[in-house]
Amino acid sequence: MELVQNYISGKYVSARSEDRLELFDPAIGEVYGHLMDSNSDDVRDAVMAASDAFPVWSALTLDERGGYLMSIAEEINSRLDEFSEFESRDTGKPLALARSLDIPRSISNFKFFADHAKDFKFESDINSDISTNHISRFPLGVVCCISPWNLPLYLFTWKIAPALVVGNTVVAKPSEITPYTAYLLGDVCSKIGLPPGVLNIVHGRGATTGDLLVKDENIKAISFTGGTATGKTIFKNASDSFKKLSLEMGGKNPAVIFEDCDYDKMLDTIVRSSFSNQGQICLCSSRILIERSIYERFKKDFCSQVSNLIIGDPMDIDTQFGAISSEEHFLKINNYIELARQEGASILTGGTAEKLNGRCSDGWFIKPTIIEGLDQSSRLNQEEIFGPVVTLQPFDSEYDAIEMANNTEYGLSATIWTEDLDKGRRISRNIEAGVIWINCWLLRDLRTPFGGMKSSGLGREGGDDAIKFFTEQKNICLPR
Ligand code: NAD
Repeated sequence: MELVQNYISGKYVSARSEDRLELFDPAIGEVYGHLMDSNSDDVRDAVMAASDAFPVWSALTLDERGGYLMSIAEEINSRLDEFSEFESRDTGKPLALARSLDIPRSISNFKFFADHAKDFKFESDINSDISTNHISRFPLGVVCCISPWNLPLYLFTWKIAPALVVGNTVVAKPSEITPYTAYLLGDVCSKIGLPPGVLNIVHGRGATTGDLLVKDENIKAISFTGGTATGKTIFKNASDSFKKLSLEMGGKNPAVIFEDCDYDKMLDTIVRSSFSNQGQICLCSSRILIERSIYERFKKDFCSQVSNLIIGDPMDIDTQFGAISSEEHFLKINNYIELARQEGASILTGGTAEKLNGRCSDGWFIKPTIIEGLDQSSRLNQEEIFGPVVTLQPFDSEYDAIEMANNTEYGLSATIWTEDLDKGRRISRNIEAGVIWINCWLLRDLRTPFGGMKSSGLGREGGDDAIKFFTEQKNICLPR
C-alpha cells in the first residue's frame, strides 16, 4: 500500500496526525494507498516553512524565480508517462486524456507564468503639477492554493505557478480524492533544487486541513477551486483575517445551438464538451439548448454519436470514456438520474451504470446520459451534477435562448453555435457567464481572464489577473 506524505521544507514528512484516509483507484473500485489527514501541527509546520522561505525567495529576481518554474516544467515533461498514468489511476480518466490534456497543461502552466510575468508591469508612475506617485506591486507573503479532484495537477499548478513566480511562498492542498500527482510534484521540486519551504504540500480533508489553512492568520490569500457550497464556507471563514480570495466554483453551462450553425463541427464538439472527462470538467456543457427547427435532427444524431463512445478501462488506449472519480460521486450521479425519472424525464440514452468485464468489473462507470422533457425549474436543470448527464431543451427565439441560458444561479461558461457572428456576439453580450465560446469549446489562451459570475466565481484567474491577485500594491507619493 502506498502512503501519500506531506512535502514540507523540501522533504517528504509523515504527518503528525495519525488519521489516515483511503485512496481509491476508481476504475477498479479498490484501495491503492493512504493519505494523511493533516492536523493543526502539520499545517503550522508547513506555514512556518513557507514563512521562513519567503524573505530569500521574494528577494530573487523574476528571471531567477522563472528559471525554477521552467526547470519544474522540464522535469515533469521528462516524466510525462509516469505522471499521466498516476493521474489516470487517481481519477479514472482515460490515460490518453491525462497524457494529452492534464499533464501537458500542467507543464504549460509553469512555462506560461515564467514567461508572462516578464511582460507584466510591476512598477508605474503617475505624475502631475502637484505630486509624483510611484506605484509598485509586491508579493503577499505566504499564500494558500486549494484545488479539486477533476483536473488534479492541471488546476493545482494553475494556482501555484503564478503565486510562486511573483515571489510568494505557498502552502498548497490538493483534493484528498486525487492527491497523487501533487504528491509527486514534491519530488520534482527536490530534484530541480527548489529552495526548501518555497512550495509546501499538505494533504487532508477539506473540513479539517483545508479549514485550518483558511483560518490561519499567517496566510495572506486563498486561491480556491471547487464546489460553490465550499466556496461559501471559505468566504465566511476567511473573513476574520481579511484574506484576499479567489473563488472558482460550480457551473451549469448552457450550449446554445442555432439552426444556422456548422452542423457537423457543432455535433462533434458538443459530444466532447458534454462528455470529456466523463462530464467532470467545470466547463462541460450540461444544458443543451437547441433551436426548435433542428431539435429532432440534433437529438437523433447526438444520441447516436454518444452511444458509440467507447467506455472502458482508462488504461486502454482506445478508451474515450472512463470511470467516475469516486464512489460518492458515482452514487450522487445515479441519484440525479433517478430524480430525473421521478421528475418525469425521458432518458434518451444511458441512464444506468456500465458494467465492464475483467480488471474493471468493480469500477464506478456510468453510461453517458442524455435526458429530455424537463422544464427549466427542474432540479436536473438547476443543480450542478458534474457528471455525464446532459439535458436537451428546445427554444424558439434568441430571446428565449438567452432567458433559458441565464436561468440558473450559475454563470461560469457558455457555448454558442451559429454562423451569424453578429448574432453570436449579440447573444454573448447578454449571457451571464465569464467565459463564452462561439463555435468552439475549451480553446484557451492563458493570457485571458478565466472565471465565472453569480454563484460560479469571485475574481478571475489567468494572465495579468492571476499576477494581480497574488500581489499587493503600494503608492509612494512626493510633493512636486
Ligand atoms: P470541493 O469543494 O468538495 O473540494 C475542493 C477542494 O476544497 C478540495 O481540496 C477540498 O478538500 C477542499 N475543501 C473542502 N471543504 C473545505 C473547507 N471547508 N475549507 C477549505 N477547503 C475545503 O469540490 P470538488 O468536489 O473537489 O470539485 C468539484 C467542484 O469543483 C465542482 O463544483 C466543479 O464545478 C468545481 N470546479 C470548478 C472549476 C472552475 O474553474 N470554476 C474547475 C474545476 C472544478
